[in-house]
Amino acid sequence: MAWSEQVAVVTGGGRGIGRATALLLAQRGAAVCVNYAARGDAADAVVAEITAAGGRAMAVAADVADNAAVTAMIDRVAAQWGAVTVLINNAGVGGQATLDTYDRDRFARMRAVNVDGIIHTTRAVMRGMRERGYGRIVNVGSIAGIGTALPGNAFYAASKAEVTILTRRFAMELGPQGITVNAVAPGFIRTDMTQGGRGRDNWAAIEKQLAERAMTGRIGEPQDIANAIAFLAAPESGWITAQTLVVDGGRMDYIGHA
Ligand code: NAP
Repeated sequence: MAWSEQVAVVTGGGRGIGRATALLLAQRGAAVCVNYAARGDAADAVVAEITAAGGRAMAVAADVADNAAVTAMIDRVAAQWGAVTVLINNAGVGGQATLDTYDRDRFARMRAVNVDGIIHTTRAVMRGMRERGYGRIVNVGSIAGIGTALPGNAFYAASKAEVTILTRRFAMELGPQGITVNAVAPGFIRTDMTQGGRGRDNWAAIEKQLAERAMTGRIGEPQDIANAIAFLAAPESGWITAQTLVVDGGRMDYIGHA
């Protein structure tokens, strides 16, 4: 299938990594559903940018933690353009907590978005993909889930570790029907998630600290991750599945045994 025949859904496509991914997939020729939860203005801006460049896009609201809302979104996209062929599970929420500050409800909500969200969307698209015998699913995990040593990330990391194992398990279930399932595990990326709520000086200090932990000497940009996602989502990547591609500029602070 050519890119021009692809129907893509990018969850959380209005901002950050999702925005860069939606723009790139549209540039390749896919029709793109830009999903959002709260920031309809941001999603509309992405749609406007894509359509101004001659592409096809629509913004659709759905909280990925809400199974019924996700199903309605996928049905709407299919009614407009045909069955979804590319699913980018990017929507996610972060949150700092330690054993001392752990809040059960807050973590349950984080898990509902970061983990249940992926289950809902995958289940919603899989029938159409199976019927076509074709599908590309890319989940956005995190190097936190692989074991970076940044303090305060334990529960977020746990939710992203689930993304890594679900990626491999879903790949095993869906592989026989021509559907690949992979993940990208980003390092520290300049987005609202990392910059939000920080003053200029605090941000400069964090950026410097994280840049020094990477072999490449810089933090990542959303485009760095979008490029990797587009590679795994491409028609010609059909024999790559169950993989987690780490895109972190060469981070050196993983928890080890040494
Ligand atoms: P961001 O700038 O905070 O954007 C998050 C996006 O997710 C927004 O578009 C938001 O939608 C959407 N979203 C949040 N909750 C949602 C829900 N319940 N349903 C649907 N959409 C929802 O974050 P980002 O940094 O680009 O992160 C994107 C992904 O990369 C996340 O999975 C994150 O965990 C992962 N990641 C990020 C980094 C990093 O350093 N930034 C590192 C590793 C992994 P609205 O615009 O409507 O609020």
